Amino acid sequence: MARVAFLGLGVMGFPMAGHLAAAGHEVTVYNRTAAKAEAWSSRHKGRHATTPRAAAKGAEFVMACVGNDDDVRQVCTGEDGAFAGMAKGAIFVDHTTVSAQVTRELAQSAREAGLGFVDAPVSGGQAGAENGQLSIMCGGSEQDYAAAEPVMAAYARICRRMGDSGAGQLTKMCNQIAIAGLVQGLAESLNFAERAGLSIPEVVEVISQGAAGSWQMQNRHKSMAEGKFDFGFAVDWMRKDLGICLSTADETGASLPVTALVDQFYKDVQQMGGGRWDTSSLIARLRR
Ligand code: NAP
Repeated sequence: MARVAFLGLGVMGFPMAGHLAAAGHEVTVYNRTAAKAEAWSSRHKGRHATTPRAAAKGAEFVMACVGNDDDVRQVCTGEDGAFAGMAKGAIFVDHTTVSAQVTRELAQSAREAGLGFVDAPVSGGQAGAENGQLSIMCGGSEQDYAAAEPVMAAYARICRRMGDSGAGQLTKMCNQIAIAGLVQGLAESLNFAERAGLSIPEVVEVISQGAAGSWQMQNRHKSMAEGKFDFGFAVDWMRKDLGICLSTADETGASLPVTALVDQFYKDVQQMGGGRWDTSSLIARLRR
């Protein structure tokens, strides 16, 4: 069992840190809004600290799941950031979805400070985090990955090293590109069913068994039919991810026409006040 710090107790981080404690690791958490850290330590075995630096002190592994590029930079190298508290040889594992560029930049700073760094974005959503069944795609040295993998096992269904620093984030971009058009297609299908006078649950029961079936259909059709979106993966985060995909595609020459279009549809959802709604809220835009 290891001494582990966890930074960022949001929708994803809160249950992920809980799985580490349940697996028997010695866990110290940090959250910017202290009330969430207090709530976490009242529910789980573990301590909370008031800065990333304090949480990281004495930890062999420091995991983070915060927001965007700037947020990760801040918790790593900002004032009272984790890197300043970590002992040489300790490994930073970043579960945030960020650009490959910031990942490589922070991995380099970590190396210079004698620290390890693994980019390890996740897929599987709020339910995957709560059930400890996340898909984790990693980048970093073979040595850092091999050391961190048994710790990540506390909440992983599958965990793979995809290559050097940034390869995990590039794989996560593939994941988001594959999801964007699919969720729009699902929203159009369910909205079409509704307007044609069909029952969404009955339609899904039949078509989910065939070629149209997907994780999104299985896990989101009910809440989409009910118009419930106050959970899950926030539209604001999806736009951050799609922005990263689109700018990386510019660099690599890949064409992402559908991804670019769906990004604009999510902008509409933000303008409807849905920045914190789950990404399945694309259907709300079609119902206007
Ligand atoms: P969330 O519920 O909004 O939580 C974000 C967490 O990061 C909060 O604990 C927040 O602290 C903290 N944070 C943000 N900026 C910070 C900063 N500058 N310094 C310190 N702490 C900061 O988000 P989430 O849904 O857990 O997502 C977290 C990351 O995982 C994102 O990169 C997202 O794209 C990715 N992700 C999410 C899902 C999902 O289904 N939700 C799935 C896969 C990947 P406060 O409590 O103080 O705001």
